[in-house]
Amino acid sequence: MATIAHNIQQTRARMARACAAASRRAEDVTLLVVSKTFGAGAVREACAAGEHRFGENYVQEGLDKITALADLRAGLEWHLIGPLQSNKTRAVAAQFDWVHSVDRLKIAQRLSEQRPPQLPPLQLCLQVNTSGEMSKSGLPVEGLADVAHAVASLPRLRLRGLMAVPEPVADITAQRQAHARLRQLFESLVRSGLPLDTLSMGMTADLEAAIAESATMVRVGSAIFGPRV
Ligand SMILES: *Cc1c(COP(=O)(O)O)cnc(C)c1O
Repeated sequence: MATIAHNIQQTRARMARACAAASRRAEDVTLLVVSKTFGAGAVREACAAGEHRFGENYVQEGLDKITALADLRAGLEWHLIGPLQSNKTRAVAAQFDWVHSVDRLKIAQRLSEQRPPQLPPLQLCLQVNTSGEMSKSGLPVEGLADVAHAVASLPRLRLRGLMAVPEPVADITAQRQAHARLRQLFESLVRSGLPLDTLSMGMTADLEAAIAESATMVRVGSAIFGPRV
C-alpha cells in the first residue's frame, strides 16, 4: 500500500532536484500522474497521497475510470494524453478537463462544438511531431503556427501550449535536444502573440532533461505505478 505514496515522494524529489539544477522554482513544474493500464484503486491511492491530476491514453479506459471514481470527481483533473479519433470527441469534451493530444484542427473544432456550455473551457495542448518521422503522431512542425492560431480562436476551449512524445533515447544530451525543439516552437508561438503557459514534456525516463528545457508539466507513469505489462 505504501509503494505508490513512496514512489510519488521519490518522483517529486527527482523533480525538485531537476528544478534546483535548472534554477527553476519547484512550483513551476506540475506533475501529471499517468494512470493508463492501472486500475481505479491505484488512482485512489495516488489521490490519497496528495495527487489530483491524472493522465489517460485510451479514451474508453479513461471514461471507465472517471465513472469508477465519480465520488472524487470534483477534486480531480483528468487529462487525455493519447490519440483522439473524431468519433470519440463528444465523450471526451463532456468528461475530460484537458486534452494534450490534439493533432488536427478538425478535432479541436469538434471539441469546441461539443464542450458542454455549463463546463469551464476544455484546456488544450497541441501535440507536435518534433522527430519528423512519418509514423509519429502529432502535428508537423510546418504549419503549426496556423493551426495554433486557429485553435486559439475557437470558443469553449483554451489553448494552453504544446506537447510531444520524443523518440526514447538514453543520452541526456539527445533528450535535451528533442525537448529544446518543442521549447523553441513554444517560444515562437508566444512571440506571435498566443498566451501559452504549458510545455507538456518529459516522462519517467527523461523528466530531468525536460525540466532543464523548461517543461511546465511532466507526465509520469511507471516511476509511480511500476512497469506496465
Ligand atoms: C505512457 C505515457 C507517459 C508516461 O510514461 P512513463 O514512461 O511510464 O512515465 C507519458 N506520456 C504519454 C503520452 C504516454 O503515453
